[in-house]
Amino acid sequence: MAASSNEKDRPVVGFIGTGVMGGSMAGHLIDAGYSLNVYNRTASKCEPLVKKGAKLHSSPGEAAAASDIVITIVGFPKDVEQVYLEPGGIVERAKPGSLLIDMTTSSPELAVRIYDAARSKGLGTCDAPVTGGDRGAREATLSILVGGTDEDFNRALPLFETMGKNIVHFGPAGFGQRAKLANQIIIAGTMLGMCEGLAYAKKSGIDTQRLYDCIVSGSAGSWSFTNYTPRILKEDFNPGFFVKHFVKDMRLASQSSQEAGLSLKGLETALEQYIELENEGYAENGTQSLYKLYCKD
Ligand code: NAP
Repeated sequence: MAASSNEKDRPVVGFIGTGVMGGSMAGHLIDAGYSLNVYNRTASKCEPLVKKGAKLHSSPGEAAAASDIVITIVGFPKDVEQVYLEPGGIVERAKPGSLLIDMTTSSPELAVRIYDAARSKGLGTCDAPVTGGDRGAREATLSILVGGTDEDFNRALPLFETMGKNIVHFGPAGFGQRAKLANQIIIAGTMLGMCEGLAYAKKSGIDTQRLYDCIVSGSAGSWSFTNYTPRILKEDFNPGFFVKHFVKDMRLASQSSQEAGLSLKGLETALEQYIELENEGYAENGTQSLYKLYCKD
């Protein structure tokens, strides 16, 4: 059945980008009773959602035109710019009064440009990137970091509550992205320290599984250490969180921190290491594969 009206008086939701994160997040919205219009560049990734009742569309603009609230979680800022601002895109095709929510990790400056373009057409926006990884998306335990007006945040909140647990409004357009970049700066150092520590343990003859079991609840513990170390120990370097996306985030963080007058040496070192990892062919692997730079065997 076409998702064009909603028996339960809930907004009809357009969902664009049904990859590692978006596929699970969109599934939670359907489970909560929302009617979904879906689009993904590779249409086959929408199949599980279509089986659950979502209607597949042939472009982001078409999905937006059939919806009251549009959510996007695509890859890079250039993808966000394309789906929102290109002719025939979401801003052009969305119904008057619609709310547009971008959950991609993207540029704060682009979030403000989308806000301005949308506002001139009577549309609301939120930038609402997430943290909590593929596991957080599957288990609906994401933290959601939001920029936008109070009115738009309050309108989006019931949808966020189906996907996440810790939902915080940081300020006007762009502030969700700024908060997320702070998160990525913290993770940059964490990933570097974690992979260096595990490499050191292995090379110096320590049983890394026993080390993990011993220190995971100590002061070196973190979400990344808890979730990524077991994957490293099993030689599982699948994404999770793609290396190519982390490099994108650290480049955005580097630019934004320089604009804020900061020179962040830890961030720049982590970025250099991950660019080297990309150059070694790991762009499509998970961020835990940084370990391979130190332990190739
Ligand atoms: P992903 O699996 O690559 O999902 C992105 C989806 O968006 C893909 O299915 C892709 O289509 C689609 N897409 C990309 N560009 C598009 C475009 N121009 N038009 C239409 N569809 C487009 O990546 P992900 O891991 O879900 O990450 C999505 C975003 O969330 C990224 O910005 C990432 O940095 C962020 N994030 C990820 C995690 C994580 O742990 N995975 C955590 C927090 C935040 P194709 O299938 O054709 O490639």
